[in-house]
Amino acid sequence: MVKVIGLTGGIGSGKSTIAKYLVSLGYPVYVADDAGRKVMRFPEVIQAIKEKFGTAIFDNQQLNRAALAKIVFEHPEKLQELNAIVHPAVRNDFKKWLEENQDSPYVFYESAILFESGSYTNFDKIITVTAPLETRIDRVLKRDSTDREQLLKRIKAQWTDEERVAKSDFVIENLDIDLAKLKMDEFLKILTIN
Ligand code: ATP
Repeated sequence: MVKVIGLTGGIGSGKSTIAKYLVSLGYPVYVADDAGRKVMRFPEVIQAIKEKFGTAIFDNQQLNRAALAKIVFEHPEKLQELNAIVHPAVRNDFKKWLEENQDSPYVFYESAILFESGSYTNFDKIITVTAPLETRIDRVLKRDSTDREQLLKRIKAQWTDEERVAKSDFVIENLDIDLAKLKMDEFLKILTIN
């Protein structure tokens, strides 16, 4: 049975960068964020969103993702309702993906909210990518069109590095990317032995 390794980290820690490195080595990586966006185009998911949130967040049958994001950001209970629609659809999609990737000894599941979503109990091992808070802030401000205040709100809504690290099997501190990749190589060796 293929082993599933969870890969997580706070905003700007560099988990996607590490995930891309794993892909370059030939490992299958399921990106939960991308899957979330994908399932929101499934007709049954669109229908469920319409029923729960009404048609005001649709422009000509097209889901206005920004309008939906604003609602769930301002109302945490609405976020739970949206998650109750999207998370089962992602779980289903992942199950199918896993069946297609049974030939690999390991697959990786990258998610920013591995712990926050409660899904962390489903993995054989968990890797957390960390970086100092100010480094993460600098990276994201360079990458995204957001401001420090918005970003800090998003960071506050996530677990802290300390909380994530306490529940992880491996930790990669990502400051120098070459060193972080070497650390990943080390973990791949440990995984192969165990
Ligand atoms: P998010 O949760 O916001 O998607 P993430 O944890 O997936 O973030 P990445 O997108 O991999 O983080 O990295 C954030 C930014 O920092 C990117 O622009 C990436 O190129 C850059 N970055 C990643 N690792 C390093 C590093 N070691 N040194 C410098 N820049 C880095």
